[in-house]
Amino acid sequence: MARVVVLGAGISGHTAALHLRRALGRAHDVVVVSPNQDWNWIPSNIWVGVGRMSAEQVTFPLAPIYERQGIVFHQARATALFPEGSDRESRPHVEIASTVPARDGETALVTYDYLINATGPKLNFAATPGLGPDAHTASVCTPHHALDAAARLKDVIERARRGERQRVVVGVGHGTCTCEGAAFEYAFNVEHELRVAGVRDLVEVVYFTNEAELGDFGVGGLVFGHGDFQTTSQLWTESLFRERGVKAVVGAHAERIDEGVIHYEQLDGSENSLAFDFAMLLPPFRGAGLAAYDRAGAEITDEVFAPNGFMRVDADYSAKSPDEWSATDWPSTYESPRHPNVFAVGIAFAPPHAISTPRTSPRGTVISPAPPRTGMPSGVMGKTVALTIAERIRHGAGAPARRASMADMGAACVASAGVGLRHGSAAAMTMYPIVPDPDRFPGTGRSLPDTFGEIGLAGHWIKYMLHVLFIYKAKARPFWYLIPE
Ligand SMILES: Cc1cc2nc3c(=O)[nH]c(=O)nc-3n(C[C@H](O)[C@H](O)[C@H](O)COP(=O)(O)OP(=O)(O)OC[C@H]3O[C@@H](n4cnc5c(N)ncnc54)[C@H](O)[C@@H]3O)c2cc1C
Repeated sequence: MARVVVLGAGISGHTAALHLRRALGRAHDVVVVSPNQDWNWIPSNIWVGVGRMSAEQVTFPLAPIYERQGIVFHQARATALFPEGSDRESRPHVEIASTVPARDGETALVTYDYLINATGPKLNFAATPGLGPDAHTASVCTPHHALDAAARLKDVIERARRGERQRVVVGVGHGTCTCEGAAFEYAFNVEHELRVAGVRDLVEVVYFTNEAELGDFGVGGLVFGHGDFQTTSQLWTESLFRERGVKAVVGAHAERIDEGVIHYEQLDGSENSLAFDFAMLLPPFRGAGLAAYDRAGAEITDEVFAPNGFMRVDADYSAKSPDEWSATDWPSTYESPRHPNVFAVGIAFAPPHAISTPRTSPRGTVISPAPPRTGMPSGVMGKTVALTIAERIRHGAGAPARRASMADMGAACVASAGVGLRHGSAAAMTMYPIVPDPDRFPGTGRSLPDTFGEIGLAGHWIKYMLHVLFIYKAKARPFWYLIPE
């Protein structure tokens, strides 16, 4: 009997665990270690953050699902990896610390034959002084954060109803952030709610981003094919901003946030301040902060993980200038080069470099988006690695790895721009591939017929349908596996 341990029950880890159980049957152990008792459909946190959904609508308890599936669940945080064993346990293992309130901090060792690191991002609010829900800005990264954001937005609306003029700033809280799509969604959902409340004329909405131009989204922007015509995500996004009267500060790095004021530097070297009444700024991401040790107990964290805390996998990490970047730099098996029975998927793997053009200010401050690893590719990676491991368990460690490179993978992103089955809207985008490959697609690096954008009410329906379908799938209801990642 083999044991596969999955660290993290988010989009990629939970997908991997369900596919492992399905592919392996009950003959082998599937173990999940994750600190939260609930699963969260993170994309819908945006709607919690404007008061249109409750936390219960975007979460459900994991334990009953895992019990039904015969998956062992440890509500705990992984703290250290021992991929070669240690003097306490000769088999590869991971050290975990319980997060169950009654057993908080109790540690244990969990051995494995195969390990999937799907620990996602650490929300690095500390990178910018004053950033985050414990300081001066809100977040929508967790349901709890989103509830707090909704309460702050409600306060803005109540004050506006009393005639007070205010400014709301929504965006990213550091020059190296990713996830601009989520910030964009929240900005337009807030704008929509202000209109619905009848106070839009009293509240200025500002989108604050590290993107050098609107529509970059961390993927270097998109060129959409529309029949014989082409248009860019920049043009498309700018026209939405104009239509909805949302202002933008682009190419910005938040240096420090004081009560009601963002101090920031821009790509042109200027230093400015922006006052706000309510701000939701996403934090930059880091790896989960796991340590790694070799058999003799020497620390090998720097070999197993990149300096940003994400795990090194089968990518080409050699330093290259953007004109030397290649689609083949991107990983496809997600296998650790040092330990072939260890994999990292979703946000947990270390990307080889950015997708957007890297930019710095004249002072040398990096102000450019980190590469996004959104829900769809994260789920695809989780499934791909689960099937690789299942095949190796069944046919031997020499079974070839399945491949799913972001340079050969498409993504669909539906960015909500306002809730409502009759008056809602969303910007729906598809791209193929996520990482441009100019050798295969000379010119834009992407397939024009497969890279497409449309905004309207239908997008909102699709976004809502995805909410329903992905929660159904994550609950492992009948035929869940027919719903694609
Ligand atoms: C507000 C917001 C809106 C978004 N909207 C969209 C969208 O509309 N569409 C889209 O495609 N993507 C969206 N995304 C991105 C999407 O959420 C991520 O791509 C996806 O969650 C990444 O999956 P993951 O499994 O890598 O990480 P996660 O889903 O974050 O899962 C990581 C898991 O690891 C656990 N963990 C953390 N540390 C440890 C540890 N030490 N040990 C064990 N477990 C640990 C966490 O608790 C969590 O369960 C959004 C993101 C945000 C923040």
